[in-house]
Amino acid sequence: MGIIRVLPEGLTNKIAAGEVVERPASVVKELMENALDAQAARIAVSIKHGGKSLIRVSDNGTGMEHEDALLCVKSHTTSKIREVEDIFSIASLGFRGEALASIAAVSRLTLSTRERSQPVGTEIQLAGGTVERVREAGIPVGTTVEVSDLFFNTPARKKFLKGERAEYAAIADAITTTSLAHPGVAFKLSRDDDPIFEYPRASNLKERILQTHYRQWDAYLLPLDAARGGVTLQGYIARAELARTNRTAQLFFINRRPVKSIPLSYALQRGYEGYLPAGSFPVAIIMLTLDPALVDVNVHPTKREVRLQDERFVLDQLTYAVRELLHQADHAPSISFTYRLDKNKKYAGGAGDVPPYTAVKEGKTAADLFSSPGEGQSTLPLPRESDQPVAVTPPGAAPSLKVKVLLGQIGLSYLIAETDEGLIIIDQHAAHERIIFEEILAAMESSEPATQPLLFPVTLELGFKESQLLEEYLPLLAGSGFVIRHLGGNTYCVDAAPACLHDPGAREIIGEFLHQAGEGREERSLQERRENTARILACKTRTVKANAPLSREEMEHLIRRLEQTNIPFTCPHGRPTIIKVTLNALDKQFKRK
Ligand code: ADP
Ligand code: MG
Repeated sequence: MGIIRVLPEGLTNKIAAGEVVERPASVVKELMENALDAQAARIAVSIKHGGKSLIRVSDNGTGMEHEDALLCVKSHTTSKIREVEDIFSIASLGFRGEALASIAAVSRLTLSTRERSQPVGTEIQLAGGTVERVREAGIPVGTTVEVSDLFFNTPARKKFLKGERAEYAAIADAITTTSLAHPGVAFKLSRDDDPIFEYPRASNLKERILQTHYRQWDAYLLPLDAARGGVTLQGYIARAELARTNRTAQLFFINRRPVKSIPLSYALQRGYEGYLPAGSFPVAIIMLTLDPALVDVNVHPTKREVRLQDERFVLDQLTYAVRELLHQADHAPSISFTYRLDKNKKYAGGAGDVPPYTAVKEGKTAADLFSSPGEGQSTLPLPRESDQPVAVTPPGAAPSLKVKVLLGQIGLSYLIAETDEGLIIIDQHAAHERIIFEEILAAMESSEPATQPLLFPVTLELGFKESQLLEEYLPLLAGSGFVIRHLGGNTYCVDAAPACLHDPGAREIIGEFLHQAGEGREERSLQERRENTARILACKTRTVKANAPLSREEMEHLIRRLEQTNIPFTCPHGRPTIIKVTLNALDKQFKRK
């Protein structure tokens, strides 16, 4: 006799539940998605014991007729797709028809629902997927699903649940994330019947972001709004100052579905190149809208992962849209010397203690600084071929720097100057790097870069891998003003260097260049390769250092050249070149305002 058996339905549902129902937060997510698919305007979530003893999700959506209510808790029952073709153009959040059956299989579930045209509603009670009771119920239009004793019949799964606090945090997170994609819907979360948060109906994403996240974000958000080639990008990215040490403040949605996507996160990061120091991750909430036919959501049971057709194009769109937006923003962090007592710290007054008063960034408390924490339409002039050059200066006027009076140097490292807005402090080294970087870029874009013959040509004996890299980058290096001859084998000779690199240590520069270029950084467009080349060269060139006395003429010269750069506010590595102290901040500080 054979040994293969067909599993009873109860068991298959339990197995399927393992994929969809990982923890209370996934139950909440599925139930919210059902409510949203049913056009709910209000969704209320109520939790007890981190969702382990009770999860209740109520909505005022369409509700279900009696017959549908009986069907919906069975597996593979859905109103959202009918035939196989429908999977390729899914507009609803659900489509598998598995969630309710899976949740019911591993809990005690009560579903009560009433459809508008029906005089009474239906209430169904199940335990471990078995219907125990069905009755009529006098309830308002809409649906309430109550899940108690999650995993009561799968003790192994129950053991994997985290502490109440962690499960509760995951639930709050799931609601907040979902709410961002549906600002027009009101959300509410209660714990043990106490309201924890409530997001009233909002008229747009910005309003919802401010309901859900720190109010302080307001001043830092830049609106993203771009469309091209059937891809629409909307949402908000934050100025570099708000960056985090990890990616937790990045949310991506595709057709209003929250997705986890490392490629999208990288594309975002590439957009911030030159605006953020290494190891910093931007804050961003990004909504992509594309033809559902180009998105495969049927990749993962929790629908958290999706597959995109023409992913490269979508990623490039994101990178360029972000770059353009950042280019138009003023990046100089401003400091206001607002004295505020930091209540969270005790000050014994001993050496090394934090003083009771701390200079803080505008609109933030000192605690914020130490914790890790205008609408315009733009159409991107993007080439579809990513290897074509992108305009160096994206269209749209960038804020510029205009210095009125140079006041002097302090600490042999910083220049102090006056602008219309107030006072600025310039990091002389960072500023010089920015200047050289842009000069090299400009040289690369000109047809005849200024070059300067070396007094003593430099011979380079390279390894095989290095010589391959050099060959690859030779056109770019030549474009910047290097003259490099191949002497045969892996030996090269540098005869001339870009004129803007004064006194270049050619051997060191090329060596470092090959070292960095070999690290396999992802650079796709010619523009990105140029910028990376310029960044490395600027970094290795002799620039004005910190701790260097400068004459008045040298300071003036540095400032005039900085004013002429496209992006005077950050060095090519994304660190600030300028910090502002506005007159407004001074007026406040001196109690004039
Ligand atoms: P799916 O959402 O993938 O279709 P579910 O198991 O989550 O599968 O739900 C099954 C069906 O039950 C849905 O297709 C829908 O018709 C109905 N349903 C579930 N929840 C609700 C709700 N809150 N309001 C109205 N109908 C619902
Ligand atoms: Mg569903």
